[in-house]
Amino acid sequence: MSVITDKFGRPLKDLRISVIDRCNFRCRYCMPKEIFGRDFVFMPREQLLSFEEIERLAKIFVDLGVRKIRLTGGEPLMRRDLPLLIKKLTAIDQLEDIGLTTNGSLLGHSAAKLKDAGLQRVNVSLDALDEELFKSINDSGVGPERVLKGIQKAKEVGLEVKVNMVVKKGMNDHEVVPMAAYFKEQGITLRYIEFMDVGQTNGWDFSKVITKKQIYEQLKEQFDLEAVDPAYLGEVAKRYRYVGTNAEVGFITSVSESFCSTCTRARIAADGKMYTCLFAENGFDFRELLRSDKTDDEIKDEVIHIWNNRTDRYSDERTEESAKSRSKIEMSYIGG
Ligand code: SAM
Repeated sequence: MSVITDKFGRPLKDLRISVIDRCNFRCRYCMPKEIFGRDFVFMPREQLLSFEEIERLAKIFVDLGVRKIRLTGGEPLMRRDLPLLIKKLTAIDQLEDIGLTTNGSLLGHSAAKLKDAGLQRVNVSLDALDEELFKSINDSGVGPERVLKGIQKAKEVGLEVKVNMVVKKGMNDHEVVPMAAYFKEQGITLRYIEFMDVGQTNGWDFSKVITKKQIYEQLKEQFDLEAVDPAYLGEVAKRYRYVGTNAEVGFITSVSESFCSTCTRARIAADGKMYTCLFAENGFDFRELLRSDKTDDEIKDEVIHIWNNRTDRYSDERTEESAKSRSKIEMSYIGG
């Protein structure tokens, strides 16, 4: 195996693969209905990478040092027969970890099949426990109960579950403590994600960000927390434990304490474009390569070339100005 590094010496270790650009939610900060309405044109099926193409690409990335793959979207559970893909990926030697990020609304149906296919972990996104608030955030009429049932089912079948909550000022900052209390009780790790300036459509500015520090201060009023050392170099979440328990909370601080210097992640969008940063403006078309007569070694050389030239450190350099002026790819497309 070769280890490849970018211009700042960062190795390539993780891969996020978006398996579909569609989602059954219309979260106002991610896929607002005004943009992703009835007449929005999603990718036709033949433009999505097939499972065989994803598997081929995954093997190439694993050969180059990737050890973790996370499937995402859009909503990955809307991709038909997803367990078949998981089965293919779990068979790849040297791949140590496969995870899935989902809104959880379809998890009740598919948890057992995902587990049987070899999936170990799911991250479920849930931004509020309050029925009306959650419905108004996802703008799709789905209440939290359905997601909580999905989480329950995932736990029952033996999947490790973490919950991710995006916190946005004025949207759900008052749910920070109720969410912590609920998931502490359940023994499920909750991670707070700072609202980020991904894409062009979510009306982001700094004033809408609730930082880790602000969330931590809310939590400290109610709970005794102690810092937990990172499990490995480059761990994205900053972790804390409720004193005297094994339950944890974490923070994804992409705005207030960026972590570009340890970012080892590449992304493949559902149409096979590779991106070297969540905030990228341009991708590299691997679908075309996969559908040409290129050999695996030739495709591998492309990945090496792209990674060797990677200089992205968007979050380190973010300013109010750059957040507005850059034309970034939507999260639903690039994969969250
Ligand atoms: N549909 C799946 C889900 O809901 O988890 C996977 C895709 S979704 C884009 C992945 C995650 O990105 C979700 O947790 C979502 O809340 C988060 N997300 C979307 N837009 C965001 C933003 N502007 N800032 C921070 N997180 C965001």
